[in-house]
Amino acid sequence: MTDEIVATLQQSLRGRVIGPSDADYDAARALYNGMIDKRPRLIARCVDVADVIAAVNFGRDQGLLVAIRGGGHNGPGLGSCNDGLVVDLSMMKSVRVDPASRTVRVDAGCTSGDVDHATHAFGLAVPFGIVSTTGVAGLTVGGGTGYLTRKYGLTIDNLLEADVVLANGSFVTASKSQHPDLFWALRGGGGNFGVVTSFLFQAHPVSTVYAGPIFWEATHAKVVMRAYRDFLPTAPEELGAFVGLKTVPSMDPFPKDYWGRRACAVISSYNGSAAEGEKIMARLLESVPPPIFNWMSAMPFPAMQALFDPFFPKGLQWYWKGDFVKSLPDEAIDTHIAQAAKAPSELSLMHLYPIEGAVHRVPKDATAWNTRDATWSMVITGIDPDPKQADALKTWGRTYWTAIHPFNLEGAYVNFMSDDEVQGRVQATYGENYERLASVKAKYDPENLFRVNQNILPAAS
Ligand SMILES: Cc1cc2nc3c(=O)[nH]c(=O)nc-3n(C[C@H](O)[C@H](O)[C@H](O)COP(=O)(O)OP(=O)(O)OC[C@H]3O[C@@H](n4cnc5c(N)ncnc54)[C@H](O)[C@@H]3O)c2cc1C
Repeated sequence: MTDEIVATLQQSLRGRVIGPSDADYDAARALYNGMIDKRPRLIARCVDVADVIAAVNFGRDQGLLVAIRGGGHNGPGLGSCNDGLVVDLSMMKSVRVDPASRTVRVDAGCTSGDVDHATHAFGLAVPFGIVSTTGVAGLTVGGGTGYLTRKYGLTIDNLLEADVVLANGSFVTASKSQHPDLFWALRGGGGNFGVVTSFLFQAHPVSTVYAGPIFWEATHAKVVMRAYRDFLPTAPEELGAFVGLKTVPSMDPFPKDYWGRRACAVISSYNGSAAEGEKIMARLLESVPPPIFNWMSAMPFPAMQALFDPFFPKGLQWYWKGDFVKSLPDEAIDTHIAQAAKAPSELSLMHLYPIEGAVHRVPKDATAWNTRDATWSMVITGIDPDPKQADALKTWGRTYWTAIHPFNLEGAYVNFMSDDEVQGRVQATYGENYERLASVKAKYDPENLFRVNQNILPAAS
């Protein structure tokens, strides 16, 4: 590609075009996951919808592989590509809250922390994930789970409208009444259908929550996991609580005697008063041994959303495996404990995020997200700062997944999948919705321009 051709892209953009010869190329291409090292030919730093239209048209007309980058958090690095064009939305950061309708308009470059900050001023929140540096865009088009999911559903269940630049460069708004087929597919179908430039979400009253982590010694993991499993369906939906197998971080303020020791954790956020929250959690705590620590307390919701941020700065090595989980028999708990004990690093973890409650009240065919009957979305992640650990993280994640998968459903949350999934995983994930997704793909992206994702192939005409 000649410099003249690249110049035509720069001339049509208000934002910058960054290429390998630019001083900030390495910083611009760096993804959250330090294990992924992709070298795009061009990065189009879009600042508005016109830039996105120009970038999509350029990428398509030049026959380039096109990746869409929201927050750049995706596990296998699907927000970038080698030798292609990255449509980078990270500069598009506007958030506008309408307190009267309790809705929030969010640009596609926002992180969930950006939105939490804006909505908290109005005593509102949208269900997003549990790390505030995650991009809203990728999280939303994949589905979105977090502390508010039991009560208010997945992120997509709170999506009212999305502005989208399609593969042919046209701009549409998708909602229940406009392009309803596209709106259906965007809610869980990933980045397959176009570049979302802005989202309109329904927000909910959430302000101060009773929240935080409780850690037990690994020797109590079996009893804690069983108790959590039995407690969850009895707990009010205002409580978002996930269970994890982790390690006590070797740093203050964690108790020194436990630094680096394997642990079982329940991490919760109750949208209500501390007194009510304590009463509810007491039902779990009474049935298990005393924890190493219980740091649940009243805090602003954005503080809880950012609780993990300091442990997970940009650039660590990550290897992801996921599954949807319907039930957690004792044998599965034993398998989890045995596999988690072999974790190759202090940060490596397994989490089970609840996806029941409000998620189950939405019919399976109402959105692209098909596995509405699962109880949890499981993630196994090998994490470490040292690149030399990459192989050990992958080996552990794959071995753990192979051992536990027989207890789980066939599919997984697309945002917890890697790029080395077994054949048929994407189809298994979408189940009976897959065919319809393939038809919508054929209508809106027949040439599969947007294929740097957990790809849905356009249906043959
Ligand atoms: C530390 C950490 C914690 C996480 N916690 C949670 C959690 O609690 N809950 C949860 O649900 N997920 C969680 N995730 C997973 C997260 O949802 C995915 O990593 C998601 O892909 C991140 O979105 P992004 O915009 O940052 O990703 P990017 O890497 O920018 O993009 C990822 C994918 O999304 C698509 N995409 C991005 N922007 C757009 C757009 N504007 N239009 C269309 N498609 C787009 C791209 O095609 C690409 O395939 C977590 C991830 C990390 C790293």
